Amino acid sequence: SSFVDVPKIKMLDGREMPGIGLGTYLGFDKNGVVKSIDKQLRDVVLDAIDIGYRHFDTASIYDTEAEIGEAIRMKIDEGVVKREDVFITTKLWNTQHRREEVVTAMREVLNKTGLNYVDLFLIHWPIGLNADYSYSDVDYLETWRGMEDVQRLGLAKSIGVSNFNKEQLQRVINEGTVKPVALQIEVHPQIIQKDLISFARSQGLVVLGYSPFGSLVMRYGMRFPGPRMDDPALVSIAEKYGKTPAQVVLRWVVDRHVVPLPKTVNHKRLVENISIFDFKLTDEEIERINQFNSNTRYTMPSFWQTHQHYPFEKVAKPIPDPFRG
Ligand code: NDP
Repeated sequence: SSFVDVPKIKMLDGREMPGIGLGTYLGFDKNGVVKSIDKQLRDVVLDAIDIGYRHFDTASIYDTEAEIGEAIRMKIDEGVVKREDVFITTKLWNTQHRREEVVTAMREVLNKTGLNYVDLFLIHWPIGLNADYSYSDVDYLETWRGMEDVQRLGLAKSIGVSNFNKEQLQRVINEGTVKPVALQIEVHPQIIQKDLISFARSQGLVVLGYSPFGSLVMRYGMRFPGPRMDDPALVSIAEKYGKTPAQVVLRWVVDRHVVPLPKTVNHKRLVENISIFDFKLTDEEIERINQFNSNTRYTMPSFWQTHQHYPFEKVAKPIPDPFRG
């Protein structure tokens, strides 16, 4: 009844990516990464596939790969989709950055998901760490060689990077054998990423935008300054199109040629978030939303800011490292 046919975007390597992906990071608490209970996430993915989602964003550190794989295999067995209709993105964790570890990490993902390839494998961060989370001196160019190995072996069809800054991306482009096809970064009205998006796009990469709702939603159990769901500018644009402010923000991402990765575990919001391909913002409306920019990041691991490959601007008071307790 509410099936949405999502448009696809062509990547540099000739493959196609569905133009919206479902985020599957469930958060972080004092015990570490929040886990899915009683197959909750598997059931969300089953529902999402019925609604029209064909792209799932995960990472080894989210601990959601197994349930996503299980749901995809169930829908293939049911005959609802074929493997080639579904696009799964996952990410290499920082503690597996040595060249030979990358292939091992990828094989672990395939074991967990029960799939024989993933569509897109990203280096999650340019930051290499040892198993005990102390800094490693491994260069992300070495890691990139491992990503190229994974692709050569057919274990990931496409490869790319996440949380790399412009200089780091440029270095991979210059010195790698294979060019990354995708860059995943934080994109929402408070961090519009004009320069990095235009650089990546000028190089032919597809940009994926994480945390698309920015300050519109609660983060870490808190409300942060910035536009909310009742923001007058967003509400007036939403009313014009008969959409919600959440849909307007996701459409703003799409209209800036970025693939949004909204996370929800709620049926109604799954439908809401994907129902954005039947309208389009004007240039003036895009510019109005761009005005919220304050370069505010919600993902800013400042506890790694003394690492030689930390990608972001440094802050005066870094937060304690949650991985090291
Ligand atoms: P989002 O911007 O997707 O916000 C998620 C929050 O918004 C949840 O609390 C969700 O609650 C709520 N929500 C979702 N839809 C709506 C709606 N229509 N109306 C109101 N509230 C809504 O943030 P995330 O930080 O989760 O980012 C999305 C994804 O991006 C992640 O899940 C992950 O896959 C990826 N990511 C990647 C990172 C990286 O380093 N590469 C870093 C951070 C995220 P509910 O579930 O109850 O609907």
